[in-house]
Amino acid sequence: MIKFGVAGNSRSFYDEGNESTASAAVWCKERGIDVFEYSFGKGINLSDKTAEFIGKAFAEAGVEMTVHAPYYINFSNPDPEMIGKSILYVLNSLKKATILGGNRVVVHPATQGKVSREIALEVAQNNLKILASELEQVTGGDCKVCLETMGKLSQIGDEREIADFCTLSPYFIPCIDFGHLNARSQGLLRKKDDFLHVFDVFLEKLPFEKVKYTHIHFSKIMYGSKGEIKHLTFEDTEYGPEFEPLGEAIFQLGLEPYIICESDGTQAEDTVAMKKTYKNLLK
Ligand SMILES: [Zn+2]
Repeated sequence: MIKFGVAGNSRSFYDEGNESTASAAVWCKERGIDVFEYSFGKGINLSDKTAEFIGKAFAEAGVEMTVHAPYYINFSNPDPEMIGKSILYVLNSLKKATILGGNRVVVHPATQGKVSREIALEVAQNNLKILASELEQVTGGDCKVCLETMGKLSQIGDEREIADFCTLSPYFIPCIDFGHLNARSQGLLRKKDDFLHVFDVFLEKLPFEKVKYTHIHFSKIMYGSKGEIKHLTFEDTEYGPEFEPLGEAIFQLGLEPYIICESDGTQAEDTVAMKKTYKNLLK
């Protein structure tokens, strides 16, 4: 089963007078939203007690939870102390995910910094291997660290780089952010074949299961010559990408991903729209 979800709370959730994320459980269920991605992007500032409370609400509503790790993780950092911190941020995100009732954590792997791409990649690979062995010890393997394709050219994470990273551990799977890839490529994702080519890069290097159950982020994103500028909503007609050709590619390949919508404020409405579009493709 494909699962459609939201990244955080939508504007309409707050406009309707809701305040606490625990009440998003029933709110999402009522709208047919399958997954809620909880963001620790700006830091892991959720107590275990509150996480337990939120997790219980979502479990009761039957809405699955995933987690986004802090944005400042960087496995290409030349400072070993900072690498230690990045590892800790992933492990702590996973710990909170477990309390929330999930086992997927999305991670932005690295930025290039002042060194060559080659060196930045090598450093990231070595550090991700250390992360992988820590994951084995700490979680016993019940986790999926979703390494995300990134939208700015200065960030590590085009489809090839992420596919390579995902070969390093059974716990690493891709988080394919199609808005990011579209921004990186100046809008090349248009037709079903364009999306199939992206999946091909992953299918060439990874076992089918990792691609079948991949994590996906989807939103329209404004871009410039350096890549991503900002997230938009489905109202946008200029930048894209469109969901329908992605839906066709997913259907053709028989994939069952988690598709998380990261629209700017309308993620619930746009998730419902994606789900409807996909349903229509099945007819
Ligand atoms: Zn992300």
